Amino acid sequence: MPLSSAQVLICGAGPAGLALACALHDRGLTVRVLEQADETVLAQPPDDGREIALTHRSRRLLQGLGLWQRLVDIAPLRRASVRSSGTRLPLPFAAAGQDLGWLVSNRQLRAAAWQGARERDVTLCCGRRVVGFERGTLAVRLTTSGGEVHEAPLVVAADSRFSPLRRLAGIGARYQDFGRSALLVPLEHEADHGGLAQECFLEGHTLALLPMTGRRSSAVWTVANADLPGLMAMGDDRLAAAIEAAAEGRLGPMRVAGARHAYPLVAVWAERFAAPRFALIGDAAVGMHPVTAHGYNLGLYGIEALSRRLDAARDPGELGPLMAYEAEQRRAAGPLYAGTNALVRLFTDDRAPVLALRRAVIDVARRLPPLRAAITRRLVDA
Ligand SMILES: Cc1cc2nc3c(=O)[nH]c(=O)nc-3n(C[C@H](O)[C@H](O)[C@H](O)COP(=O)(O)OP(=O)(O)OC[C@H]3O[C@@H](n4cnc5c(N)ncnc54)[C@H](O)[C@@H]3O)c2cc1C
Repeated sequence: MPLSSAQVLICGAGPAGLALACALHDRGLTVRVLEQADETVLAQPPDDGREIALTHRSRRLLQGLGLWQRLVDIAPLRRASVRSSGTRLPLPFAAAGQDLGWLVSNRQLRAAAWQGARERDVTLCCGRRVVGFERGTLAVRLTTSGGEVHEAPLVVAADSRFSPLRRLAGIGARYQDFGRSALLVPLEHEADHGGLAQECFLEGHTLALLPMTGRRSSAVWTVANADLPGLMAMGDDRLAAAIEAAAEGRLGPMRVAGARHAYPLVAVWAERFAAPRFALIGDAAVGMHPVTAHGYNLGLYGIEALSRRLDAARDPGELGPLMAYEAEQRRAAGPLYAGTNALVRLFTDDRAPVLALRRAVIDVARRLPPLRAAITRRLVDA
């Protein structure tokens, strides 16, 4: 017998799936979440090295769900600068009188979303890996590896950029493999970062230094896949010295202050974000390259768009509202996705003419304050 007490069944208790569960619950819908990981892991997520930059709009959305209030370690992002090897001066970004955004560890976001869902009447079924999908006229059935069957009028895939449920539902996706990986490592340093995030596009690699609370930064070092094993094996002192040199000593002497994590850089764009009685959210819909720091932000905008269109008094699996969600989210995400991938191509291509072009882009943008102000407004108002 299928278990069928919920109006919406979400596959995946990551930060997107859990925030959606909270948002739908607050609109009066009954929600069940199926997650393959154990409850202990979700309640106290391990450090995964990710420091997530959040926009003003995301902060408002998280506040509306009562999740922002649960975060304790929040680093303000006051300024940002971008430079490319060969540019004399960096391209600066700042917003008069306000922060550009905030940085919060993914671990905290996951824990806050878990607590939010636990305190609401959301049914959380952990240790359940979804392996089967069957669409009926009135409901979708999901089967877990343990043989349980769950059904609901609407099923949402929130099961990562490599979404097994998206594939089971027959929805394709375009993958862009950048052939690179990001090495993440926290560092302590002598100088104050002043809330400055630095993005340095160097020849053959890219280094971002993201401000954390105190005199700490998270280094995101993007290298060709072949170079990753060497960096992972490097001793702490050598790694800190290499990052210090790439950052041209701007933050003073550095020390490795935690574990390293690596992520292959693959962007994903699902061919559909909605289908009969089915929707995709978070990375399952759009998996962004992290350089523009928009993956979870877009996930939150999609959660807001989907939950706004669902009405507890009606069938949540009705196609009309789901298609409206898809159209809105594709409009919001499309330009950012395409723009981010184009930026990555431009700033990681080290052939001489392209290097000259990216230096020119930075120099021109530096001399055009209105352009920088427009980009900054986009960050702050997004
Ligand atoms: C290096 C890096 C830096 C980033 N920086 C930023 C940033 O600065 N700003 C920003 O906005 N975003 C950033 N992101 C993106 C952000 O981390 C993601 O968008 C976000 O974590 C995605 O959340 P999610 O819930 O969609 O997916 P996930 O976090 O991947 O969660 C998916 C969940 O589904 C579960 N699952 C998978 N398959 C199944 C199954 N078959 N059955 C049941 N459960 C299943 C998994 O166990 C997992 O719990 C960054 C990403 C990376 C890699």
